[in-house]
Amino acid sequence: MNPLFDNRRPAIVAESRQQAAGLYAARETREWQTMDAAHHLHPFSDMGALNQAGSRVITRAQGVYLWDSDGNKIIDGMAGLWCVNVGYGRTDLAEIAYRQMLELPYYNTFFKTTHPPVIELSQLLSEVAPEGFEHFFYCNSGSEGNDTTLRIVHQYWRAKGQPDKKYVISRRNGYHGSTIAGATLGGMGYMHEQMPAQVPYIVHINQPYWYAEGGEQTLEEFGLARARELEAKILELGADKVAAFIGEPFQGAGGVIFPPANYWPEIERICRKYDILLCADEVIGGFGRTGEWFAHQHFGFTPDTMTLAKGLTSGYVPMGAVALKRHVADVLIAAGDFNHGLTYSGHPVAAAIAIANIKLLRDEGIIERVKTDTGPYFQQALREALADSPLVGGVDGAGLVAGIQLTSDKASRGRFENAWEIGTLCRDFCFKNNLIMRATADRMLLSPPLVINRSEIDELVEKAARCIGLTARELGKA
Ligand SMILES: *Cc1c(COP(=O)(O)O)cnc(C)c1O
Repeated sequence: MNPLFDNRRPAIVAESRQQAAGLYAARETREWQTMDAAHHLHPFSDMGALNQAGSRVITRAQGVYLWDSDGNKIIDGMAGLWCVNVGYGRTDLAEIAYRQMLELPYYNTFFKTTHPPVIELSQLLSEVAPEGFEHFFYCNSGSEGNDTTLRIVHQYWRAKGQPDKKYVISRRNGYHGSTIAGATLGGMGYMHEQMPAQVPYIVHINQPYWYAEGGEQTLEEFGLARARELEAKILELGADKVAAFIGEPFQGAGGVIFPPANYWPEIERICRKYDILLCADEVIGGFGRTGEWFAHQHFGFTPDTMTLAKGLTSGYVPMGAVALKRHVADVLIAAGDFNHGLTYSGHPVAAAIAIANIKLLRDEGIIERVKTDTGPYFQQALREALADSPLVGGVDGAGLVAGIQLTSDKASRGRFENAWEIGTLCRDFCFKNNLIMRATADRMLLSPPLVINRSEIDELVEKAARCIGLTARELGKA
């Protein structure tokens, strides 16, 4: 019997090490890898190459550290995939899941029913979300959240008697997930190429990535110019044909790209002027990443909808949601049947974990600490450690998220022609040095658990700088 669910021994954590051994057979790394290659298909991977090399097998985690099947202790500079905000090994979340599973492991929220966890979560979210966000629709992921956002946007304009407002504008190099609608909204060409067609009525404008695309413009000129591409696109399509603009407050998977400070206020002005819904994809930015509860608060604008996932449950189980401002929710609620839902919308175990997770973020002062202590400390330490690197053109970020721009020439903001290889080279050094740091082309990304303390930040920054130094040496730059 799986010891996690032996109800004579509800103390699921105390002896977790020994008990975990009973979760599955003890195997050698090589054996795991062989089985993995034989039967498991990996996301976003060249599986042929991966199967040759063998996957790294992560077996357990605690705090900001992971352990692999060879016993290596690895510092997780990415909080999993940007999601483990409260860190690994939180016994409170495990116990809540266990108790909720015994009480009510599943029930749906279709057909005139509801349950306490989803009610309590919705109430709690309305308390931590900015003024006016009072209604929440649930799903299982960020991708589904953005699909849901599209459904809501279209229902909204239909109900308002403007069904011709159909176009949704998003950005190149944005990431909005990997369902078909999510991938269409996203501006990743390599995802579009895989499909014969995209979802119609979605169009893209350019991203606010000054380092790569700013040319001779100042940050300020570039920020305005990129925001005004939205206005130009609206005028081209006709404002009476445009439903919404969607964007990540800062682009995450696209490289932790922080737009110039005047970008978002200008985007907001344009959305208001032409009566376009402003949808913030807060899947990474939400739940404290920048030191604010939601990243749009950091950038000083107010969206009409927010997509939430990742930090909502700190990744302990899957859950996503869409948060609606009152004026959007009012229209949706009055519009009659809303024909959308997922078997697991508002799943009681996920909701129970989300509640406990949000309470940890709030009541342990985790987000507050990111804002006033660990966030500024991390940003400063990282900038200091990389200031003299010939390979580093700049560091963007706030709170506990950062994008490190690698450059072939600091003075001229030079770009490597083989940017993806450079990033991969650096990431391979990280791998060997037991650091998880992600690469998007020639940008190295960090986004550690929000519970990371100062000495762990020192270790993270020291390792990141060391691996970038090794990359520079390999390229003959140091
Ligand atoms: C991860 C991510 C998504 C997709 O979330 P999934 O849970 O992987 O479907 C959507 N938007 C943003 C900004 C993301 O970072």
